[in-house]
Amino acid sequence: MAQSICLIDTSKCMGCRGCQGACKQWNRLPAEDTTFVGTYENPPRFSADTFLRVAFREHSGNNGRVDWYMAKLGCMHCTDAACMQACPAGAIFRSDEGTVNIDEVKCIGCNYCVTACPFQVIGFDRLTNKARKCTFCLDRLENGLQPACAKVCPTDSIVFGDKRKLIARAMDRVDQLKAAGKTEARIYGLDEVDGTAMMYVLADKPEKYGLPEDPQVPMQTRIWNAIFKPLRILVVVAVAFGLWVNRSQTKTIEDAKSKNQAE
Ligand code: SF4
Ligand code: SF4
Ligand code: SF4
Repeated sequence: MAQSICLIDTSKCMGCRGCQGACKQWNRLPAEDTTFVGTYENPPRFSADTFLRVAFREHSGNNGRVDWYMAKLGCMHCTDAACMQACPAGAIFRSDEGTVNIDEVKCIGCNYCVTACPFQVIGFDRLTNKARKCTFCLDRLENGLQPACAKVCPTDSIVFGDKRKLIARAMDRVDQLKAAGKTEARIYGLDEVDGTAMMYVLADKPEKYGLPEDPQVPMQTRIWNAIFKPLRILVVVAVAFGLWVNRSQTKTIEDAKSKNQAE
């Protein structure tokens, strides 16, 4: 688990989408053509070119009012990461900084990680046949910089820093929100999937922001990881062994033939 994390305080988000633009800019991701379908949430889903989206959710509030729920969404960089367990090619790894990243060179385009992720945040590039998602700006972290989304956020809704300090800050903020009448306020990402490096202060229930109430690694992924993935390695080793035996036997026969011809 990362010692540095991002804390996303949704109660401070004003929906400016600066984080969305900064993510596109830093990662050189092109814009996407979309259609207005009656919501400000745009683009409507994650893709190989959209690692970060801002949720714009409308819910009925008091006295017939509409309450807005806004939050930066993307890969959570889970401790119990379903994508890592699902990947048969070993292309998804945990960095020294604790982030979960995809090595596109090793990715074989099987799509297993895309379906396994309980947050549905992995995009798939059909042109290159590669899975892609938020990198936690690992290239920036490795150079002593904070993630682009945290750097640009004007309200400190996204803050990057020491995990322990940010958990303490999140607890204080939840207390403040509860005192202000937000009885469902909570920290999200402390216990979910054994903790996430993208941690949230939510002013209400997770589903109001489009987050799963109780995210889990799918059972099929656990079974695959525990039983079939090691077998897959055995199959690869068996095939390699077979090729080696075949090559050795072919060489022995060729050597014998050469010897006979020489005699
Ligand atoms: S949110 Fe999905 S893609 Fe990100 S680490 Fe967790 S399982 Fe993997
Ligand atoms: S950490 Fe970097 S890649 Fe991830 S959402 Fe923020 S800006 Fe995008
Ligand atoms: S930059 Fe900050 S305030 Fe603006 S949408 Fe992103 S998280 Fe919200």
